[in-house]
Amino acid sequence: MPQIPEALRLAAAALLDRRETIDRPLAEQLVALPDDDLPQLIQLAHQVRLAWMGPAVEVESIISAKTGGCPEDCTFCSQSARYTTEVVRQPMMDTAQLVDLARRTREMGGTEFCIVVAVRGPDERMLRNVIEAAHAIRAEVDIEVAASLGLLKPGQAERLAAAGIHRYNHNLEAGPRFFPRICTTHSFEDRVQTCRMAVEAGMELCSGGIFGMGETWEDRLDLAFTLRELGAREIPCNFLDPRDGTPLGGAPLMRPLDALRCVAVYRCVIPDSVLRYAGGREVVLRDLQAYGMLAGANGLIVGNYLTTLGRSAEVDLAMLADLGMPVAGAPLTGTRGMRSIPLQPVTPA
Ligand code: SF4
Repeated sequence: MPQIPEALRLAAAALLDRRETIDRPLAEQLVALPDDDLPQLIQLAHQVRLAWMGPAVEVESIISAKTGGCPEDCTFCSQSARYTTEVVRQPMMDTAQLVDLARRTREMGGTEFCIVVAVRGPDERMLRNVIEAAHAIRAEVDIEVAASLGLLKPGQAERLAAAGIHRYNHNLEAGPRFFPRICTTHSFEDRVQTCRMAVEAGMELCSGGIFGMGETWEDRLDLAFTLRELGAREIPCNFLDPRDGTPLGGAPLMRPLDALRCVAVYRCVIPDSVLRYAGGREVVLRDLQAYGMLAGANGLIVGNYLTTLGRSAEVDLAMLADLGMPVAGAPLTGTRGMRSIPLQPVTPA
């Protein structure tokens, strides 16, 4: 049997025995483990996920209801009007289109439908369109509705919550120290404010980040602990898939083992939230994608992302079936059992 590093023993004792969260110094020790110990960190993260969240995987589809032309300058984003990219601007979809897409998401096994628009924040017309679509989807399709409309003004979150939008997505993208390097048209604090408004209005908060933009592990932990403090119930983990024409278009891809370490460390820092495997995983992780689901992720965005193509939903659902992981709220035809993957326990000290 391999020796279990002290940091893993301490983390297992806190997270599995005492059911306590870990502190920043211990998270830093997990980050510092050598690659040779990564399989044991992944194993611990999977156990934490099972113990705190159970075996089911939340499957979600996101729809870009309005694409491109955003006035903000986020350096990773091909939807910014400031950069010349391959993104083709598309106006806001109408309610009938959104209802149809929500129905197709449900038929595919999805349990949540997230309406995403590329704007700094919604004006009155857009807010009304989204509210109308949310009412129509909830009346016609058995699916949860979420929204991602950018920065909110006072009062807007309450109106979205009243329309039955149960979850608001607003990614912080990066930690507070690194954020000014990826965006200058709004601040990290602006994003935090919107997250707080969503929570205060009674919506669940979905907020995560993009890894591989040049940030340090310290920045990644800053983001993780901020998300934990904000009470994010769902945390999308995106990996930079550099887009031509954006300032980060020539950035190197993140190392796959670092991407897995990110997922595992985030699971250990935030044991009780849905950790959603999101954009860039196909490009960054390649053959290692399934390991992310064994490293603590318990959510999956299937189909295409907002500006990049994912692999087909069928391939991802087959991956979950092969892993023996049930889909939350929608057991899949052909899923081989509802068991979780049995792994060797990490024994606490
Ligand atoms: S990340 Fe959002 S706010 Fe930033 S440019 Fe893209 S669409 Fe606009």
